[in-house]
Amino acid sequence: MEKVVIIGTGCAGLTAAIYTARAKLKPLVIEGKMPGGQLTTTTMVENFPGFPEGIMGFDLTMNMRTQAERFGARFLSVEVTGVELGSAPYTIQTYDGPIQAEAVIIATGADPRYLGLESEKKLIGHGVSSCATCDGALYRDVPVAVIGGGDSAMEEAIFLTKFASKVYVIHRRDELRASQIMGDRAQANPKIEFIWDSVVSEVLGVEEGEVSGLRIENLKTGELSEIEVSAMFVAIGHIPNTAVFKPWLELDDEGYLILTKGTATSLPGVFGAGDVADHEYRQAITAAGSGCAAALEAIRYLESQD
Ligand code: NAP
Repeated sequence: MEKVVIIGTGCAGLTAAIYTARAKLKPLVIEGKMPGGQLTTTTMVENFPGFPEGIMGFDLTMNMRTQAERFGARFLSVEVTGVELGSAPYTIQTYDGPIQAEAVIIATGADPRYLGLESEKKLIGHGVSSCATCDGALYRDVPVAVIGGGDSAMEEAIFLTKFASKVYVIHRRDELRASQIMGDRAQANPKIEFIWDSVVSEVLGVEEGEVSGLRIENLKTGELSEIEVSAMFVAIGHIPNTAVFKPWLELDDEGYLILTKGTATSLPGVFGAGDVADHEYRQAITAAGSGCAAALEAIRYLESQD
């Protein structure tokens, strides 16, 4: 029987691990399919307080993990296949067997969203990617495209200019969602060309098994055009990882965990933190903050049970 199980090792899960470990609860932290979470797919993090020169996303998560281990957190590299949250103690099913816990902190984050085109699906891993940091270097001296108008799209586009000969940013409106500073940086970059009011209607290259271009529809004029690119990086937001919790916990229309009173879910002793419950801020620091709050609530809950 575990006192507290934390599901997820992004900023939220790792912060919860540091706090519960320091409270001598020896948390068991389940890593899941993407250890370190979204920060491991980003480059320089410039807005996490305490790092005036910035810090690489990967290094930030590794530091948090080391910090949690220092206080006694244990890490388990398995995926959660289901949960039974009918009554406490709660059961977490994994490929390695069930784990029972008095308290659970859900910090499973969110996965990248794709456009949903058949051609896109067929070319994932063959030029279609959701991670410029992971795949950008594969596309040297060729044109590539980034889809989206948020901070992620700007960040990916700027990063890709290190390798690509040209970066198209295709956005469905004529106004960016990105912060002013990121938008300005992207628009000032001579290698980036914006294609406004437009969506990708087809990814070209399915027969060749490699992205060769994109068919684009201008939403204002209905005009169709094609551009030649070797890769398409999709940066249009995320889908929360809540599928296994659906039968047990309240989710909103987009699948995000609904929290009340900070980090509380609809079940006692089950808490949520980070992007799994946050479609508004989605920052490393807000995820870390909510991971801290969830840990403090879990500590209080366990004390009240004792
Ligand atoms: P986001 O802010 O939600 O932006 C998603 C973008 O994708 C929007 O421009 C949206 O268009 C577009 N989009 C959504 N669905 C689409 C579809 N089906 N087809 C075409 N376009 C679609 O997501 P994000 O950029 O991943 O950012 C998430 C959060 O992380 C934000 O809070 C952001 O500030 C933060 N972030 C910060 C940094 C940084 O500061 N360094 C870096 C990355 C992310 P509309 O604008 O028309 O809705």
